[in-house]
Amino acid sequence: MYSKSEMLFGQARQVIPGGVNSPVRAFKSVGGNPVFMQHAKGAYMYDVDGNKYIDYINSWGPMILGHAYEPVVKAIQEHAAYSTSFGAPTALETKIAELITSMVPNIDMIRMVNSGTEACMTAIRLARGYTGRNKFIKFEGCYHGHADAFLVSAGSGVATLGIQSVPGVTAGVASDTLAAPYNNLPAVEELVAGNKDEIAAIIVEPVAGNMGCILPQAGFLEGLRKICDENGILLIFDEVMTGFRLARGGAQELLGIKADLVTFGKIIGAGMPVGAVAGPKEIMEHLAPAGKVYQAGTLSGNPIAMIAGYTLLQTLNDNPVIYDQLEEKSNYLINGLKEAFGAAGVVYSINHIGSMLSVHFTEYPIIDFTAASAANNELFKRFFHAMLERGVYLPPSAFESWFMTNALTTEDLDTTIQAAKSAMQAIK
Ligand code: PMP
Repeated sequence: MYSKSEMLFGQARQVIPGGVNSPVRAFKSVGGNPVFMQHAKGAYMYDVDGNKYIDYINSWGPMILGHAYEPVVKAIQEHAAYSTSFGAPTALETKIAELITSMVPNIDMIRMVNSGTEACMTAIRLARGYTGRNKFIKFEGCYHGHADAFLVSAGSGVATLGIQSVPGVTAGVASDTLAAPYNNLPAVEELVAGNKDEIAAIIVEPVAGNMGCILPQAGFLEGLRKICDENGILLIFDEVMTGFRLARGGAQELLGIKADLVTFGKIIGAGMPVGAVAGPKEIMEHLAPAGKVYQAGTLSGNPIAMIAGYTLLQTLNDNPVIYDQLEEKSNYLINGLKEAFGAAGVVYSINHIGSMLSVHFTEYPIIDFTAASAANNELFKRFFHAMLERGVYLPPSAFESWFMTNALTTEDLDTTIQAAKSAMQAIK
């Protein structure tokens, strides 16, 4: 059933460390070998052995309208003929900057980079340059990419692989990163009090998506905003996952909290390699060449990536009903999953906001990394594989969020729910 994937993985391991170009893809946490994909369309992915999957990763977010979304494909094809890169400015970069600054609250300017990692790295450098302070606070289980400073108590693949301290990250760098448990304001207050006038920024996933999906508890983000205001600290929302996914204006709009800087990734390139940092003019103009905080990129603002992102974002901007439809589909799926888990008599906790959700097998609420780690991840592994065999592709780790696509039909959701029922009966 997976013979070609097995063969390709064997070949890949000879020339690519671990056989993959990003760790979570390797199925390390769920066991077994990864499935190699051939093509995808709408809500479905097809692997090299001809198996079809209903996709709940959607390239970890960007395929919000489905794979190979026709207008995006057409725009890429058209623009590829004009050249794939100039290394000089294009009007497209201004066009997408205007669109994004009109969609997202509290930002006047945006700088394009090539990944979420670069976006967060730039945001921290900018916050340090702007405030003249060195330290920053992040949250345990949150992931902001693989820049050295973020690989402290990180989520996503770092959590999946159980790496406590990353070799290659110097103690000097790590000592400027302070970590607090998610949803824990007193811990943040303590760090701020203990490092007076030394903290440049607090960076947070406004909805965490890298330890499963974890919602901010009432007052958490408001509390961070207040702490930042009272202490001259910049609040950075990492909206690499939540941006344009939870609402047109991201978590800032949905949750009504203002950030000082916002980072984006994935979705703003419609799946092409893009990231961005955005904020008010007063802060953003500290970036080179307007200011002295250096940041650059040969391929930044790449024309193919820009037209792909512009086409997708414009569709989202013009059709806000998409967000209601995604919410409805998510609720429908969750109700079905609850039935499936209930019928099997397993304890579970489902976190959900908009089109992001995650399932943890535990009776306790999942509010932080400690809670996520304490869930029955053995059962998740078996559930993952049972679903895969039944044609449903879930994130291969309990420490990742599921991402819904609007290409899903009610029939797809029913098929998924049936698969969950049959999977639970088979593994419980
Ligand atoms: N921030 C968040 C919230 C993310 O989820 C990710 C990636 N999953 C990143 C940053 C890093 O983005 P990239 O993988 O594009 O470097």
